[in-house]
Amino acid sequence: MSENLNLFTSTQDVIQEALNKLGYDEAMYELLKEPLRMLQVRIPVKMDDGTTKVFTGYRAQHNDAVGPTKGGVRFHPQVSEEEVKALSMWMTLKCGIVDLPYGGGKGGVICDPRQMSMGEIERLSRGYVRAVSQIVGPTKDIPAPDVFTNAQIMAWMMDEYSRMDEFNSPGFITGKPLVLGGSQGRDRATAQGVTIVIEEAAKKRGIDIKGARVVIQGFGNAGSFLAKFMHDLGAKVIGISDAYGALHDPEGLDIDYLLDRRDSFGTVTTLFENTISNKELLELDCDILVPAAIENQITADNAHHIKASIVVEAANGPTTAEATKILTERGILLVPDVLASAGGVTVSYFEWVQNNQGYYWTEEEVEERLYKKMVEAFDNVYTTATTRNINMRLAAYMVGVRRTAEASRFRGWV
Ligand code: GLU
Repeated sequence: MSENLNLFTSTQDVIQEALNKLGYDEAMYELLKEPLRMLQVRIPVKMDDGTTKVFTGYRAQHNDAVGPTKGGVRFHPQVSEEEVKALSMWMTLKCGIVDLPYGGGKGGVICDPRQMSMGEIERLSRGYVRAVSQIVGPTKDIPAPDVFTNAQIMAWMMDEYSRMDEFNSPGFITGKPLVLGGSQGRDRATAQGVTIVIEEAAKKRGIDIKGARVVIQGFGNAGSFLAKFMHDLGAKVIGISDAYGALHDPEGLDIDYLLDRRDSFGTVTTLFENTISNKELLELDCDILVPAAIENQITADNAHHIKASIVVEAANGPTTAEATKILTERGILLVPDVLASAGGVTVSYFEWVQNNQGYYWTEEEVEERLYKKMVEAFDNVYTTATTRNINMRLAAYMVGVRRTAEASRFRGWV
C-alpha cells in the first residue's frame, strides 16, 4: 500500500490516536475531526487590464471552545478546501501546545501573488475581508500572515475591516506593520521559535550549536531568518534551498550574501550554476535538518537516507506519518511542526494582547516571553514522548488537543 500523503486525513488519524491515548471516546473525535465552520467565498477583483477575475477563498474555524479562533491567510495557487481545513486543525494544536487562549482557524485564497501587481493584491486582500467579514473579528477569529502574505497585506485587511466596522480595529488581525499596532519581533517570531526548540533539542542530543552543521530547506520567511540566527549562533549552515534548487558548501555558506540577494518570495538559487536538487539537500550529511518549505518532503522513500540526528519541522506537514515512524525508529529526534513553528502565533497573541491594552512592549520583553513559552512547550512535549514512549508528533498532538477537548466537554458540547 502506498503511504498517505493527504494532509487532512493524516492529521485526523493522529488526532484520533491522541484522543484515544487521553482517554476520550469516539464522540470527542467526531467533534474535532473537522472544523466547526468552513466558509467558501468568491471574490471578484478588477485586474489592471480592465477585466474582472473571480477568486475562490476560504476561512475555516476548527474549534472555538477555548477562545476566538486564530490563524493565517495563505495566498497560493495550491490552496484547497482540504488544505485549509487541515491547517486550521494544526492551529488548534499549536495554540494548545504554547497555551494561548485561542482555537484554530485558517484562511486561504487560490491565487498566485507572484503573477499579480500590488494593486491587484490590495484589491484581492480587501475583497477577502469583505467576503469573510461576518465570521471574523477581534473577539471571533483573528487572521494573520501565512505563505505569500505579509505585513502590507495585513495592513490593507485591517484598514478594510476598520472601514466596515467604522472603528479603528487593530486587534482584528496580527502581523501588522509596527506603526499600525504590530508587535516588535513578529516578523522573525517563527524563526526565533524554531531556533529556541533547536537549542533545546540539541541539548538533549549533546550537540553544541557552535560548529553544528545545519541544513535548511526553504528560504522564505522562516527559512531565511533561521539561517541568519543559526549563523549568528556559530552554526555552520552547509545547505539551503528554494523552490528551484539547493546550494551546498561543507565549509558553510555565506548567509549574509544570500540574504542580501534573495527576492521577496525567497528565491536565490537561480543566481548560481553549481546547485544540487532539493532531494539531495535533504540527504546531506549534517547534524540538524530543518524542512522549512512545503509538505510531504520526508517520506517512506527517503526517510532511511536522512543523516541528521535532529529534524526540526519549520514548515507545516513536511514529514509523512510513515516517515515519522522510520525516523523515530532510527533514533532521530523529530521536533514536529505544531511545536516547532508555534513561535509565529505566539507573538501574534502578544500583538493582540498589546492591541487590546493599547500598551506596547519592548523587543526584549517580547523575546523573553516567547523564549519562556517555547521552552515550556518543548519540555511538555518531550516529557510526554519519553514518559509514554511515543513519538514526538503523537506527544505534541496529545499536549495540543487536550485543552480544546476539555473546554468542549465543560461547555457541554460532547
Ligand atoms: N500562519 C502562521 C502559522 O501558521 C501564524 C498564525 C498566526 O500568527 O495567527 O502559525
